[in-house]
Amino acid sequence: MDAEAHAEMRVDTDRLRRLVHGPALEPKVAAWLAEAVPEEFCVLPDGLTPRERQELTYRRLARAGRAAPAAPELLEDPGVLCALLERAAIADPALFHVMLLHYTLALGPILAFGDERAGPRAERAELESMAAFGTLLMTEVGRSNSHLSPRTLARFDAATGEFVLISPDAAAAKFPTNTAHPAVAKTAAVYATLEHDGAERGVFVFVARLRDAEGNVPPGVRITEAPDSSGLPVDYAAVRLEGLRVPYEAWLRDGASIDADGVLRDPAGGAAQRLTRSMGIAPPVWRAVVSASAAITRAAAGTLWAHSAGRTTLGRLAPRRPLTDYRNQQEAVLGAVAAAYALTVVASHVKGHRPAAPAGGESEESGAGTGTAWAPWSAVDRDLALLKAAATALAQETVARCRVHSGAPGFAATDRLNAYRGLAHAYLSAGGDNALVLFDTARAMADLDHYRMPPEVAVPQGDFPDEELVEPRMWLAMAGAVERRLRERLAERVATARAGGAEPFTAWNDNLALASRTATALGDRMMLTILAEALGEGPAVLRTLAGLHALEWMERRADVLLNEGVAGAGLLDRVWRARRRVCDALAPHAAELVAAFDLPEAFGAPAAWVAGE
Ligand SMILES: Cc1cc2nc3c(=O)[nH]c(=O)nc-3n(C[C@H](O)[C@H](O)[C@H](O)COP(=O)(O)OP(=O)(O)OC[C@H]3O[C@@H](n4cnc5c(N)ncnc54)[C@H](O)[C@@H]3O)c2cc1C
Repeated sequence: MDAEAHAEMRVDTDRLRRLVHGPALEPKVAAWLAEAVPEEFCVLPDGLTPRERQELTYRRLARAGRAAPAAPELLEDPGVLCALLERAAIADPALFHVMLLHYTLALGPILAFGDERAGPRAERAELESMAAFGTLLMTEVGRSNSHLSPRTLARFDAATGEFVLISPDAAAAKFPTNTAHPAVAKTAAVYATLEHDGAERGVFVFVARLRDAEGNVPPGVRITEAPDSSGLPVDYAAVRLEGLRVPYEAWLRDGASIDADGVLRDPAGGAAQRLTRSMGIAPPVWRAVVSASAAITRAAAGTLWAHSAGRTTLGRLAPRRPLTDYRNQQEAVLGAVAAAYALTVVASHVKGHRPAAPAGGESEESGAGTGTAWAPWSAVDRDLALLKAAATALAQETVARCRVHSGAPGFAATDRLNAYRGLAHAYLSAGGDNALVLFDTARAMADLDHYRMPPEVAVPQGDFPDEELVEPRMWLAMAGAVERRLRERLAERVATARAGGAEPFTAWNDNLALASRTATALGDRMMLTILAEALGEGPAVLRTLAGLHALEWMERRADVLLNEGVAGAGLLDRVWRARRRVCDALAPHAAELVAAFDLPEAFGAPAAWVAGE
């Protein structure tokens, strides 16, 4: 690279740090964040039993909660809440998981749907003061898609003014829940179908104490501990509700009421709308999951860099050559750094995301659709649900790649990469199953339901300079073209099947692979568009990183780009050539790009402790 090009690639570290950390750089926020999740949380004492480890996680959560602003303030400020959760995810994924449940899934519905004056005041105070920890009882163990239609029932007892919560059988047990620890107080947000006057009136959230600080479980609650697990180690258990009585105030009624004559009034307007409203707690969860995906990808990329930089090889082609001189390792390191920046930009975007119009509302493009078949999520906010699916998939892939390229030390000398892999993997299912989000999105795309196709832009074919591949207009044209073609074929296939007399199940079931690719293409285009808008006009080093990320996207999606005829034979050769050039430009700046992640000091090379470093 000539001197001029090198100067153009100069790194403005302050700008990178602003991009990465956002509000966490404000001195006031930085101070309480450091107090809430100090660096010591990155280290776990050796030799803990699973229960001791879980107890430590909750103790740390309590400490974080006491150092952080009050829950209502946090939940009103996505940037700040996400900064806290990102820091927790980097330090300890299990801490992130219970923190997310506590704030967004237990306190979230209380603040969103509870009655400000009536309550549930005591439970809310216990959660806000960290005297009890929040837990979510939504998923039911025995049937798929239980979120669409929980079999857990809530019945109003007019004689006492209470609700009675009932799991009709073992299949309706709530699982997984983080409720097993025998000595940690837990309060749940319970998703139950309100049965009133002999009819199902929609899914509401109820608040229920499941265990007090002395370990007492109230009558009507049966908690069955799950076997120990290591993927994302928290205190999993199944919970059955066997006639648990909760007061009227425990009903997070969101404007609904039952009057003195026992008449139920619900402003939602029907059971389907009520389900969507009750699931409306999901957007803060998705913002946090996207943010955590970015955070752990940064941490994994930083760990891989620390493992690789300065490491010498003994391969016979070139003994003592630095490991990062080999393209495979160099591309893994820089590809992970590029993915980390791309996810960080997407995370900043979602933190400022405008909520979609309510189901059936006015949102023109990819907002909230009117009806879903697989899960409630796309009816709440299709963009955010899809970005959550896209971000977790990319994080999962990148973190796994970092683990493999960190060799044995990345697996055995630190548990960090294994833990990040566990978190990313868990959230492919948790927080809205990715596959189901993709299917519902694809269905809306096929029906043109709140979806507008990307404009048709010609993608250059034949002979063109490789450099064009890294231009945003090129990757956006490719992403748009592949999405259009997939959507058109999907819509046509389903319509043909339906016209031939196929039931919806058959028409869709034979096209699920295509549906998944179609919605993935939309998720990809959304991420690439956000990236192009954020970095397209930015400094050269960031534009180059975005280009590398786009090349990696082309390699990852080469099958579908070729299958749809968006690219011709030889695509991969072009991508590989262009990537070599881009990596040569970025390699001298890798250390600065990683330094801007500001990872905890404990995050050195995984094997450094062997040499006592
Ligand atoms: C680590 C972890 C922690 C969790 N914590 C909680 C918690 O605290 N509280 C809580 O309530 N829930 C929790 N969950 C549950 C989570 O929300 C669910 O796992 C998720 O929604 C998937 O539901 P399921 O487990 O019933 O799987 P299933 O719905 O049975 O899915 C199994 C597989 O089948 C596919 N599938 C399912 N239905 C269909 C269909 N109709 N068509 C095509 N394919 C289908 C899915 O894509 C998936 O691949 C947690 C999950 C994980 C992994």
